[in-house]
Amino acid sequence: ATSKPEYDLSRSHEAFLRACKVIPGGVNSPARAFGAVGGEPPFMARAEGAYLYDIDGHQYIDYIGSWGPMIFGHAHPTVRHAVVEALDHGSSFGAPTTREVDIAEAVVAAVPSIEKVRFVSSGTEATMSAIRVARGVTGRNKIVKMTGHYHGHVDSLLVQAGSAATTLGFPNSPGVTPGAIEDTILCPFNDVSAVAAAFERFPEQVAAVILEPVAGNMGLVPPRPGYLEQIRELTRKHGVMLVFDEVMTGFRLAFGGAQERFAIDPDMTALGKIIGGGLPAAAYGAKSAVMDFVSPAGPIYQAGTLSGNPLAMAAGLATVGMLRESPPYERLEAISARLEDGLRRAASDAKVPHVVQRVGSMLTLFFNQGPVHDYEDAKRSDTALFGRFFWEMLARGVYLPCSQFEAAFVSAAHTDADIDHTVDAARDALRAIVG
Ligand code: PMP
Repeated sequence: ATSKPEYDLSRSHEAFLRACKVIPGGVNSPARAFGAVGGEPPFMARAEGAYLYDIDGHQYIDYIGSWGPMIFGHAHPTVRHAVVEALDHGSSFGAPTTREVDIAEAVVAAVPSIEKVRFVSSGTEATMSAIRVARGVTGRNKIVKMTGHYHGHVDSLLVQAGSAATTLGFPNSPGVTPGAIEDTILCPFNDVSAVAAAFERFPEQVAAVILEPVAGNMGLVPPRPGYLEQIRELTRKHGVMLVFDEVMTGFRLAFGGAQERFAIDPDMTALGKIIGGGLPAAAYGAKSAVMDFVSPAGPIYQAGTLSGNPLAMAAGLATVGMLRESPPYERLEAISARLEDGLRRAASDAKVPHVVQRVGSMLTLFFNQGPVHDYEDAKRSDTALFGRFFWEMLARGVYLPCSQFEAAFVSAAHTDADIDHTVDAARDALRAIVG
């Protein structure tokens, strides 16, 4: 375990003991367990704007934002109002609603490559369904996945998976059959020749290449200049569908996601997080010619009892509406750059090996000389140092992602003062660690 500064988490501790008796590891998603940083998580009571409040009475500046969705911060009045209004009309009908059409139109208008979109309830479902459609449309079985990229807990994609799978040391999960992954081909991110070699080795057998256009699940790793363009060209040449997993990057790196920011036209896109405005919603979309293969328009089956849920659609529509009407992207860029600079200066002054990588409002301070281009680079980071830094920051009221292999998210609710407080905390924290 890492050395933790003293601060009282006794109520959270009690809650965690209770939780561990009835929930595996005490949490409903592994990334929350703080396993990698050697400790127990604070239990949260509420959240507002850029802040989280735990049941022990601490306030934190939040850089997780529910792992991506809260681009306007927590409990935004517009989102809250939309959800309450929807709730008053009934929480689920299992029948179509006009709100689903409204949000589908908003997505089609926002994301350049999408003409039709299907809503689901989690990012996992979105990538799982996109892969099924890619296989169904091409009649091919194999998929190419990048090491260290995370696409949810889809069996065929849980191979060298990033996020908590990497953090906790199980990038290949027991319980996934050899059959489920025999058609998954792994390539390092940012290496075009590896993908070209895979296509040569398995001619006309690869249905799709799936990737995070900007990787956020092995820490923040941008694409090298030209990488996405070359992958686009190569996949097109080989009749392979290019699937962008924009569950993290969609509506965050630009209104139209990473594909707008980098001007790439993928064949399919998975969306999640922001699109549900903090409620469970995700989606996958493509050109009509592809999406018309999906049931009931076509033969590829995909369904969901709570898909297009009224409350989730209301939260998503309110969030997407605000992103369109008053885009926060310039401000996010400015305050995120301020944080990047501050962290870099703090780490330089403390003389610890580091690199800060950032795209828009997603960033990671790697305790690693850098640059980090792929999973192997990321794994060379000093995770013990990260763990100590994490606890020192938490004790100073800054809630960072609890793993070196996760990106931090800045929201429009963060103020310059929050950023400056965070940078001061980082200075103090590093001083406490390296003396
Ligand atoms: N894809 C990416 C890029 C993600 O970051 C995540 C979740 N962090 C997922 C898919 C899975 O989404 P969910 O947790 O909603 O199933």
